[in-house]
Amino acid sequence: MSGVDAADSCLACALTAGTAPLPGGQVLRSGGWVVEHCVGPLGLGTFVVKPLRHVLHIAELTVPESTELGPLLRRVSAAVTEVTAPEQVYVCLWSHSGGVPGHIHFVVQPVDRATMTRFNASGPELQLAMGKAGCFPDPARVERICDRMRGLLG
Ligand SMILES: [Zn+2]
Repeated sequence: MSGVDAADSCLACALTAGTAPLPGGQVLRSGGWVVEHCVGPLGLGTFVVKPLRHVLHIAELTVPESTELGPLLRRVSAAVTEVTAPEQVYVCLWSHSGGVPGHIHFVVQPVDRATMTRFNASGPELQLAMGKAGCFPDPARVERICDRMRGLLG
């Protein structure tokens, strides 16, 4: 597979490059990683941590990228906790786009009791239910939460 051709049609790369709409804008660029609010239907305060490079498999991360990853996921999770006061923060990676490997991106998702009660679900079932319900957050609220995250992560 040609990485360049794949990157040309990659939403993650387009969001990083600023050629696709990204409410809230980039929250952090740190080493080989980028943090931004999730554009998918996973609710307000869900952030994405993804490599700057078009990487399809964890095994393809460089040593510096993988060294940066753990501390960055902890930092972003701590900031999400500070901003949203959730019951739990999910950090997960599926990265299958249309059933084929896609640009890897860790989802850092705050989950509270009200959301679990609303959907009567937790874990992957909760994410599936939120997707089906189209839990796209209000862009104005995304802008505000991204400003707060930049303050915490900056
Ligand atoms: Zn990409």
